[in-house]
Order: sequence, then structure tokens, then C-alpha cells
Amino acid sequence: MNVPFLNLHSTYEELKPEIELGIKKFFDDGHYILGNPVENFENEFASFTDSKFCVGVADGLDSIYLALKALEIGIGDEVIVPTNTFIATWLAVSQVGAKIIPVEPDIDTCLIDLKKVEQKITSNTKAIIPVHLYGNPVDMDALLTIAGKFNLKIIEDAAQAHGAQINQRKIGSHGDIVCWSFYPGKNLGGYGDGGAITTNDFELSERIRTLRNYGSKVKYVHQVKGFNSRLDTLQSVFLSIKLKKLSEWNKRRENIANYYLESLSNTPLILPKLSLNALSSWHLFVVRYKNRNHLQEYLSSKGIQTLIHYPIPPHKQDAYSSDFQDDFPIAEEMANTVLSLPIGPHLEFENVKYVVQIIKEYFK
Ligand SMILES: *Cc1c(COP(=O)(O)O)cnc(C)c1O
Repeated sequence: MNVPFLNLHSTYEELKPEIELGIKKFFDDGHYILGNPVENFENEFASFTDSKFCVGVADGLDSIYLALKALEIGIGDEVIVPTNTFIATWLAVSQVGAKIIPVEPDIDTCLIDLKKVEQKITSNTKAIIPVHLYGNPVDMDALLTIAGKFNLKIIEDAAQAHGAQINQRKIGSHGDIVCWSFYPGKNLGGYGDGGAITTNDFELSERIRTLRNYGSKVKYVHQVKGFNSRLDTLQSVFLSIKLKKLSEWNKRRENIANYYLESLSNTPLILPKLSLNALSSWHLFVVRYKNRNHLQEYLSSKGIQTLIHYPIPPHKQDAYSSDFQDDFPIAEEMANTVLSLPIGPHLEFENVKYVVQIIKEYFK
């Protein structure tokens, strides 16, 4: 049996008539930059995330970068980020010239350790960027309390958390600005790059709306030195179609995750542990195991594709290794032991059962 890690083509197959109609309408309208499709998607996604405003941008990295810009964070400022994240979280901070202050995760939840955040706050700290890694949401109430106490901004990296909830509240407007990616492999993804921010703050939303479009609200009138980071119109057509399926697709992910959790509980694998009162979007199902590479090879020999999120933490990348000589042992331990099992809305249950069967065989 062959079990691919992710099957993106199935999303197209499931939605073919809607997608083809959407493409036809796009060409009939002949409007290629911003316009109604982007506005419609922004309204739909704001509504989905229970937030007041959504602004579509070019990709997830830009969404974090523009959030920092809108909050006027830059040179001389410090921003707290997790040591274990996709490098985009760090790159956005570097791009505005601010100083990265890495904080280790809690080894159980794999999320930024809130107990360690306070120790890193200085008079230069301006913001914290929590990452809802793998779809497991950070305890936002606790983080908001810390931010309130020290007057810090919160920019959420929600690139893996479409549809996640914490304490019965959707991820989307806890922090000052919430950043989203619609990279094809995300829970909500286009067929190309895309991103957005959501917020309840009208002024911040307008600032980002202006920044993403050459610093302009009215054509050829430029208030600020902006950028070109618009959500592509055709991608927004696809995203509106796929958004209608997101809750159902997340439910399918959850069913798979629950099956893994139950049937792998008696193996030596360390299974994912969610935050308290969390509803994960189950972007990834990440287990940990000390002989991870050996297990991965075994699964591969049985036709099961797994991935590693992530094999090298940002501080160990060449891009950052001259800036960070410190050890971050928890991030490094994670990089050496994590393994992402196949999960997705179009993964057949037969395949899921096969993955479990082969893992059990491995440990026999
Ligand atoms: C995917 C991702 C991003 C970046 O999104 P892009 O759209 O690829 O720029 C940022 N942070 C995290 C945690 C991600 O998973």
C-alpha cells in the first residue's frame, strides 16, 4: 500500500465543478488585481474566524512582516518568538530589523513556554509572536495577561491553525493581529501563494490594507512607503470555494487524529498533547521517538511517507547561526525526535489503519 503524506489533488477533484465555474467567472469579469473576489473572501474569512476585519496579502511571511510594520516595530525593538517554528516567524522579525528573542517550547505541547516568556521581557520588548504550531493553539488567555502586564503587542502566527479554538473561542482575534498563510498545504490553502491578517482593530486593518498596496488608498496617491503584497484575485476565488469545506475537512482531520491517539497509545511513541481546552485544527500529527530516523526509514520501506517539522531549528540554520551561538536544547531535541504522520481530509481510513498496523509491527 502507498500512503502519501498529503494528497492535494483530491481537493481539486472534490471541488472540480465549483473551481471550473470560478475560473470561468474570473475571466468573464476580467478583473485581475484585488476587486470583488478578494473583498468577498476577506469578509468570509473574517466571519469564519469571528474577527471584525480581514486583509488579504501575498503570503504568510508577508502577513507577519506587515503586522510588525503596522505596529511600527523595527530597529532597536525586541520581539519574542518560539525557538521551534517554521523559519518564517523569525524572518519577518529580521526583515523589519528588530531583534529576535527566542524562547523555548514546553516539551509536551511543543508550544512557546509561557513560564519562560516573562523572564525574557526587557524595556525594549515590543511584541510576542506565539505560533499555534501543528494547529495546537497557544493558551491565549494566559498570554494576553502577560502582554497586558508589560504592555506588549501580540501578533499570532496562525499559519497552521485555521479553525482552531482555545477556551471555546476561535483563533482569529485574541491578539492585536493574527497572521495567516494560504500556502497550498495548509488547512485552508490556495493553488498558489496567499495570506491574510485578521484583527478587531479597524485602524490596524486599514494600515495593513494601505501597506499591502503601495501605501495607497486612492490610486496614485501614496500616504506611506508601502509594498506590493496583495492577495492574488484568482487565489481568493479558490479560497472562497475551499473555505466552505474547511470545517468538514478539519473534522476529518480530527477523526484521524483521534484514531491515531487511541490506537497508538500503547506504543513507545510520544503522542501529541494539546493545550488545555484546545480544539486543534490538526494541521499536523506529530509524534516523537528517539530513533526517529530508523522508524521513518521503516515506514518509508512500507510505502508510508512521513515528514519532519522541522529538521533544523531556525537558530541552527546557516541564515542565523552567526547570530545565535546559544543552545536551545528543547528545540534541538524536538528537531531530532519529531515525526509527522500522514493526516489530511482526503486520507482514506484504510490508509490510516495501515499506518497504525505498520507502526505496531515495528515495535513488536
Ligand atoms: C507556512 C507557515 C508560514 C509562512 O507562510 P507562507 O505563506 O509560506 O509564507 C509561517 N509560519 C508558519 C508557522 C507556517 O507554518
